Amino acid sequence: MTDDTIFGKIIRGEVPAEKVYEDDTYCAFKDINPAAPVHVLIVPKKPIPMLTDATQEDAALIGGLFLLANRIAAEQGIAEDGFRCVLNCGARGGQLVYHLHVHLLGGRDLEWPPG
Ligand code: 5GP
Repeated sequence: MTDDTIFGKIIRGEVPAEKVYEDDTYCAFKDINPAAPVHVLIVPKKPIPMLTDATQEDAALIGGLFLLANRIAAEQGIAEDGFRCVLNCGARGGQLVYHLHVHLLGGRDLEWPPG
């Protein structure tokens, strides 16, 4: 699978980003246009374009995104007050970058429903 998205470039170090976590499987960095005081994008290095492209083989990878969100939320100091994880899928889901990712948002009261 090739990955020419901006997130692929960030993962490969070709485009700078403020990384807050990285291992062999995941990369997490601050959103360039934050929607909350804490806004981190958690990205599997495997270039799955969108949630509907994930298969049973990716079950642990997808689950791990949310466990990593827990860890980063704690590190960013928002775990106790609460936070939100968002996964946009496709055009009407508001997805702009077609490399699967979870938004971790916190540091303020978040309204529901989202726009
Ligand atoms: P999506 O709408 O696909 O769920 O979210 C894409 C997110 O990526 C947006 O919140 C946008 O601000 C963020 N983003 C787009 N380009 C860049 C970039 O070059 N660097 C960083 N750090 N974030 C980006």
